[in-house]
Parts: sequence; structure tokens; C-alpha cells
Amino acid sequence: MSEPHFIDTHAHVQMAEFDADRAEVLERSRSAGIDWIVCPGVDLATSALAEQLAQDQHDVVAAIGVHPEDCDKAPADYLERLRSLFAANRHRTAAIGEIGLDFKEGTPDRTLQERVFNEQLQLASDLGLPVIVHSRFAVAECLAAISHFPGLAGVMHCFGGTPDQVERAVQLGLDVSFTGNVTYPSAHATRDALKACPIDRLLLETDAPYMPPVPMRGKRNEPSFVTYVYQATATLLERDALDLACRVHENADVLFSLTERGNHAGEENLQDHA
Ligand SMILES: [Zn+2]
Repeated sequence: MSEPHFIDTHAHVQMAEFDADRAEVLERSRSAGIDWIVCPGVDLATSALAEQLAQDQHDVVAAIGVHPEDCDKAPADYLERLRSLFAANRHRTAAIGEIGLDFKEGTPDRTLQERVFNEQLQLASDLGLPVIVHSRFAVAECLAAISHFPGLAGVMHCFGGTPDQVERAVQLGLDVSFTGNVTYPSAHATRDALKACPIDRLLLETDAPYMPPVPMRGKRNEPSFVTYVYQATATLLERDALDLACRVHENADVLFSLTERGNHAGEENLQDHA
């Protein structure tokens, strides 16, 4: 690779925020050198939309799951419905996510969050898929839950923990992903955690439409802005930008089996029309 190729390992491009100009957003992403977008759902509806987008777009793969902030609205049969979504789109479903725990004030009851998280960790384990984990104010609790599933692969997304917790995540076999928040002037703790992450465990993402990096703060975030996250990370780690992009590419390919999934682009669509 002589031109840098990027992956946005977490962007909710299926969400309504992109309904007016999704085609242009995806076009800008391609022009910026982004080879893949991993598109996680936060509930059943956005998981189904992520699957649809992953079928329609060669460079989008889906993750399906129920987010901790949405777990109180999930229907009783949500696990079965996630299984059905996977069964219909197995080649383009890269992960179970985003799932996790969120102990910010006002989020659903902790016991319920923990039950739904554990059920989806088990689902990922059953299906042989990695997990994409949201862990706001709950990094230690998420890591403790995951430790009961030895061998489960996954990523701690939008990481907000300490360097010690990066080490713990890596011990458990997880990757750690950082967003535009590494560019925020006050985010010293996040940058310390990023520096503690081994290069073969590092992923980068936008979390679009949220968390726009400097210099796009205040705007809607989109996958093409992930280049700012790569630049900031290369500067912080004093690494060559091209080398960093290659390493992250490799890590994401391994975790989400992207090369393999690329070979199946459009396949389920073809079967539909056969
Ligand atoms: Zn997200």
C-alpha cells in the first residue's frame, strides 16, 4: 500500500442522521481511502438496517446487537430475532454489537443491563463472532463479564479506561479502539490509555454520527473524518502514518474477517434474486 488505506471500525451509517445524504457520505468515505466500515446496530431495528446496508454496499459489514441504553426496550424474544438476522446475513455479519454496560446516570437498571449483556456474550460465543463492547463508566464491569467467556474475541470500543485496564483487556484477548476523543485537548487520560495499547491490539474508529474529532467538532461525524483520528494517533505514538494505517488494517481484518467477508459481497442478494 503506497496510499494509506483506512478502516472505520465503528460508524452507525445506517442511522437516520444519514438518511438525507448517505450515498454522498459513503462516497466521501471511499475518496478518503476508507476500505471498510463496520456498522453496529444498537437495537433490532438499527441492526436490521445495518444488515441491509452491508448487503447493498461492498465496503460495509454489519454488527447486530442491543445497546445497554436500549436494553429496556428490547422485546422478550430479542435473542431469537438476532439469531434470525444472523442466519439471513451470516457472511456480512462481522460481530455482535454494540453491546455492553453503561452506568451513566439515567441509563436502564444495572441488573437488566448485565443480563442482556451476558446473554449477548453467550450469543456471540455460540455463533463464533467477536463482540463490540460499549463500556461507559463500566470498563471494569465489562471486562469482568467478558472474562467468563474465555476465547471470545472482541473490541472495547470508544475506550475510556485506564492504562491498567488496557492491559487487562489485552490479557483477555481483546482489541481496544479509540475515537475522535483522542483529539480533544482535555482527553489526557484517553491519550495515556492509547499509548498503553500494544500496536497489534489497536483499532481506530469514528463512532459516527457522534464524537466528531478536532477539527470537525460541532458537526455531524462521518467515516471520512476517521483520517483525523489516524493522524492524531500517528503523531501521539510517533509512528509513520502509513505504517499505522497498515497495522490497524491488519488488526481489523483479523478481528472481523474482512477479507473473507469481501469475497461474499452481494451474495445473499444474488440468492434472493435467484
Ligand atoms: Zn456506537
